[in-house]
Amino acid sequence: MKRNTNRRRGVLLVALVLLLPIGAAAQTTVLTNATVIDATGAPPIEDATVIIEGNRIAAIHTPSASAPEPGDEARVIDLGGAYVLPGLWNNHSHLGDLLPDPKGLLRDEPLPRAMIRAGRNAMDALKAGFTTLRITGERDFMDVAWKKAFDDGVFIGPRIVAGGPPLSTDGDTDWLVRTGKGLEGIRAVVADNIANGAQLIKFLGSRMPPEQLIAGIEEAHRHGIPVTVHAGDETTRIAVMAGAESIEHGNDLSDDTIRMMAEAGTFLDPTIQCNLSAEFIAERERLIAEAGYTDPPEVVEGRVRVSRADERSPAYANHARDVINKAYAAGIRLTTGSDSNPISEIGILEIEQFVFHGIPPMGAIQAATRNSAEMMGMLDDLGTVEAGKLADLIVLEKNPLEHISHMRSLSMVIKDGKIVNRSPHEGQASFWELYLQD
Ligand SMILES: [Zn+2]
Repeated sequence: MKRNTNRRRGVLLVALVLLLPIGAAAQTTVLTNATVIDATGAPPIEDATVIIEGNRIAAIHTPSASAPEPGDEARVIDLGGAYVLPGLWNNHSHLGDLLPDPKGLLRDEPLPRAMIRAGRNAMDALKAGFTTLRITGERDFMDVAWKKAFDDGVFIGPRIVAGGPPLSTDGDTDWLVRTGKGLEGIRAVVADNIANGAQLIKFLGSRMPPEQLIAGIEEAHRHGIPVTVHAGDETTRIAVMAGAESIEHGNDLSDDTIRMMAEAGTFLDPTIQCNLSAEFIAERERLIAEAGYTDPPEVVEGRVRVSRADERSPAYANHARDVINKAYAAGIRLTTGSDSNPISEIGILEIEQFVFHGIPPMGAIQAATRNSAEMMGMLDDLGTVEAGKLADLIVLEKNPLEHISHMRSLSMVIKDGKIVNRSPHEGQASFWELYLQD
């Protein structure tokens, strides 16, 4: 009888072991001597120890000396006072797009080639600190495929919030978009995008009849999927009334519309990178250099070319800047999105430009982290450095609250509790060489 019980216990034990994945002992990573900028809006937490168990932040102890002794298995990293922030989001990403496109690659490009560039862009973005990319329109559901590849661990890449192809009205000849005819037509493409894995629906709202945009937003919400709308002032009002979660661009918002968005709690992703004058671009380069960051000429020339491909008149750019500051003052939650590539470099520029345009550094940091996660309903898991959240973190050597260009002093990226290998591969061409130089 006794022997029998023992055997049964043995069987139970074997079954339990089999239920655990191989190598299930969760890695513990301990970051000591850290300065935590948690992005809740609180001041930096000095002399902190951040304990990561598996893929989550288990605890933050301050002072460091109050933290429990790490176990023998733990990986302990002394940060020497460096700054720990939440992993960054880029909220207006197009993985496969190119502007400018000096080699004419986009024209008649076969899908496999676009797919390769899209993946490279996303993987480079993770190495630059972007642990999540929100995709606001992508050809052929490339983003859904890359999301699966990264989630499955085929490649090491960022979290992807897939948008699938952007939607517009019948007759829109833009090669990238999917269109619907009338109310039923737009409902059908919304449902089909969702069936194909879209977690977000992007409408090119300013090209759509209002009733069609409203029907499309309704349909997405019927499926429990959030929407974002490419919009100017007039379309923004329609989108906000229809309950859109966020607006892309919105560079000409009137004071009334800003008030309306603030009341409704609509997020604004202003994509400043696409709305700079030559003066703003020159000023930006001066400020980055002043902070002590001298990038290789291909990077500096490249990013200036990207900005100039979307260059605006001083009057337009100044007005867009005023809109952002008014929106921030009204309490609208802003988010950062590059709408340009490479996401890595232009994404950092977007965060810097928030501050160069007048938003406080903490506001810019929250736009790139906390607000982004909140916009996508993911604030319980992401967006701030707090116990219980997923361990998506970046480490900066210098304080970004002192100069926002210290976002460039990146020394470590952790995604899902794992340290990202950021070392360059010998022989690998840069994104600039591959796609953005003549
Ligand atoms: Zn875009």
